[in-house]
Parts: sequence; C-alpha cells; structure tokens
Amino acid sequence: MSLYQVYAQYPITIVSANGMRLVDDKGETYLDYYGGHAVISVGHGHPHYTQALHDQLDRIAFYSNVIENPLQVELDQRINAHLEEPYQLFMCSTGAEANENAMKLASFKTQRKKILAFKNSFHGRTSAAVAATDSPKIWAPLNTGHEVDFVPFEDLEKCEQLLSSRAYAAVIIETVQGVGGLDQPSIEFAKGLQQLCEAHGSMLIADEVQSGFGRTGAFFSFQRFGLSPDIISMAKGMGNGFPVAGIMVKQQYQAVQGELGTTFGGNFLACRAALAVIDIIENENLIAHAKRLEQVFRKAVSEASLPATIKGAGLMIGLDFKTPTAELRKKLLFEDHLFVGSSSNPNVVRILPALTIDQEAIIHLVSCIKKHCA
Ligand code: PLP
Repeated sequence: MSLYQVYAQYPITIVSANGMRLVDDKGETYLDYYGGHAVISVGHGHPHYTQALHDQLDRIAFYSNVIENPLQVELDQRINAHLEEPYQLFMCSTGAEANENAMKLASFKTQRKKILAFKNSFHGRTSAAVAATDSPKIWAPLNTGHEVDFVPFEDLEKCEQLLSSRAYAAVIIETVQGVGGLDQPSIEFAKGLQQLCEAHGSMLIADEVQSGFGRTGAFFSFQRFGLSPDIISMAKGMGNGFPVAGIMVKQQYQAVQGELGTTFGGNFLACRAALAVIDIIENENLIAHAKRLEQVFRKAVSEASLPATIKGAGLMIGLDFKTPTAELRKKLLFEDHLFVGSSSNPNVVRILPALTIDQEAIIHLVSCIKKHCA
C-alpha cells in the first residue's frame, strides 16, 4: 500500500513547531520562512491561538449550518471592522472553495457565464477555480468547459474589449500574485478595472486567499489599491493552519436561501481559529509590523547587494534572481535549515513567514542568501 503521491516532497519529517521554529524527528531545528504556503500567519503554537482552540474543543467542536452559530456573526463583525464598507460573510473551508463560491455567486447574480482572469493567476484546483488558473497542465478535460479569458496585467484595452460584451459574470484578481511569482498590477490599472466592471455589470472578485489577513501590510491587499470589490475570497492565514475560508459579499447583494452551502464551513472550531487569529493580529499590531519588516527586508537586501530585484509587499515578498533558484532553495533548506518558497516563475524565491517574525530573523535570511550568492 502507498499514498496516492501527487506531491514532490522533501525527505523531512517535522514533529513539532513553535513560533517560526520547526523540529524534525531527529531533533534538528529549521526556521520557517514559508508557513506551509502562507498559512501560518501568527506563528506555530501561538499561546492565545492554542488556548482558544482548546477551550472551544472542550465546549463544542462541530455542528452544521442547520443551527445558528453566533461565532460566525462575531467573525463577520470582526472582519468588517477592517473594511471601509459593509460586507456579508459566507464561510467554507479552503481557498479553492472560496473562489468557486465567489464565481458561482457572481454567475447567479449577473446571470452570465464568462470569467475574466489574469496571466499567471492561481485560484485553486476545483472546477471553476482551476479553470480561472492560468496553468493548463492542471486542467483536466472536465475543467475546460468553463469560459475563461486570461489577460495580462496593465492591458486595460483588452479588458474593455472583453467586458464591453457584457457576457462576463466576474473579473477575478490577485492584487499581488502568489503562486505566479509576486507580480502586482499598477494602481491605475486596478482602478481602471474596477471602473470597467461597474460600467459593464461584471462583479469584481478580489482573491485574498494568500494575501489577506494582514500579510501585505494591509488587512486585505486590495485596500492598498483603493478598490471596492463585490466579493472578497479568503483562506490560508485566516486560520493559521485550521482549514477555514470564506467570502465577503458586498451588502447590496441579497442572499437567496440554498444558492450556496457546505457541511463543514463555519463550524465552531473554524470560527474560533479565525477569531483568535484576528485577536493576535490586532493585539500585536501585526499589520503595521508586516509593513515595517518589509522595509527591514528591503534595506538588508540592498546592503547585501544581492543580484536580485525585490517583488511583493509586506511579508508576502520575494526575490527575482532572473535565473533559476532551485539550487539556492535547496542550499537554504539542507545547509542552513531555512524553509523558503518557490513560485511558478522558477527565478523567484518567495518569503511568506508568520507576521510575528522579528527583524533578526529577516536579517539572518538575507545573510544566508548572500553567502550562497557569493
Ligand atoms: N487563491 C490563491 C491566491 C492561492 O494562492 C491559493 C493556494 O495557493 C488558492 C486560491 C487555493 O487555495 P486552497 O489550496 O486552500 O484551495
């Protein structure tokens, strides 16, 4: 018997973790600058987070959405406190599911079928989410029935040409691309896109699955662009490892009973995990901290004269070396015991640490990278 092995894996078995320290089965310590794909937002084993989950587990872990759950209402309020206008929360369990629901909802509300997405996008692996992901090698024939067009960032003319057909239910955008390699649109392009959506009746979906919950130095990345999306999708850092996700839907859209649904979404433990993450982000001022540590990273990279350009924002940041980085990442992991991330652009090293990371850890990473670049 064996696993259905779809992952390329490192021969490392992690058995415990604290803060950004990971310990393997041989007692070796690693530093986590990756958070398991940007999931660990407030650090492994944060005492407030683990206490909140333990307490909730002692009371009730799960019941479905057939009953009212006041924790969902509290979470809706806590997320809304970080938004400029009111949104309504619908909860699910993964990033792909959040985007799937976002696009489905846009299709219900507009009664249209097409989706406009961007070159190098990644929105997940379920039906419409993978179809809106610019990676044909992960499309099964089943996924190719969706009508999706991919446009490069900055090509507003092409967006207008397509959207003016009034056939597009939604435009889905990562305002800083994760898997794609940390590219960002200009503010002018993002605002132009918002205007085109409004003019032609398409809904704007901000995919904040990776960039949300403080990671870019704003609660949501789209806020750095002055956007007002119709739907916001979120997951990853929202639960610091607990599988919790959701969409925020602008107040003007009225829910219709039965149009969306899920068994696990919004259960007691999931809500408690997300509430604890927000407590920590607020109490420890982690959004401002992420912004400040971006500057620490920029300064350290500049002082080290690394042969790379910096991409991304806040603690969703990385280095583009213009040459492949697989060897560098291997050396960082096996020689220095540092986990960093890759991207679909082989030249980019992605750095997605917990927002609680300190200045010394950032400087240590840059000095290890410098050593291997010498
Ligand atoms: N959207 C973005 C921007 C992502 O980065 C990802 C995962 O990497 C997803 C959606 C899919 O999330 P999940 O793997 O939780 O389904």
